[in-house]
Amino acid sequence: MRERTQGGSDVSGGIFLDRDGVLCENRADYVKTWSEFKWIPGALDALRMLAELELPIIMVTNQSAVNRGLTTLEDVRDIHARMAADVRQAGGRVDAIYVCPHRPDEGCGCRKPGVLLFQTAAQDLAVALERSYLIGDNLTDLEVGWALGLQVILVRTGLGTGTADRIRGDGRQVLVLPDVADAARWISAHRRPDLAAGTMRARPGRTVRV
Ligand SMILES: [Mg+2]
Ligand SMILES: [Zn+2]
Repeated sequence: MRERTQGGSDVSGGIFLDRDGVLCENRADYVKTWSEFKWIPGALDALRMLAELELPIIMVTNQSAVNRGLTTLEDVRDIHARMAADVRQAGGRVDAIYVCPHRPDEGCGCRKPGVLLFQTAAQDLAVALERSYLIGDNLTDLEVGWALGLQVILVRTGLGTGTADRIRGDGRQVLVLPDVADAARWISAHRRPDLAAGTMRARPGRTVRV
């Protein structure tokens, strides 16, 4: 489900962000209301840095707590509206937010590692996925990125350290960084002018562990 979006863009790459474990602290019992929402240190700085790149910034989040009956879409939208206010105040932006409210047993196509919301976002915002970045903490995020050819960045916040252990040595393309602020710095430093023009990907095949 698409919550909101601000305008299209003629740039060809985008920055896809997971929410829980990347932007806000993960909770085993789910972030159900704004009072349970806690920014990960540096996340607002990261969004400000990413905003300077003039690429669409897109958040894609699994929120099965909705269909588990633990929270409501209204509460999720409230959380995202308050997040957006904080982000704007910090000088950043989130251009679009996509939410999967389903439980795993519902077998939807939008719950990550399903790729539907990424494909929808790519169409909505005229973004080329193979020229985009994905920042996530869970294996399911990485699987989307690998399936669709994004430059995948795994952060060690949230479930990230465990995820890094799970994929160690399996040879797939992933950049592992401490947190989303480091990911934003990396993207800022490595984004090439010709990446936006669509001729090259950033560091193909590169695996770095920090
Ligand atoms: Mg996550
Ligand atoms: Zn879904």
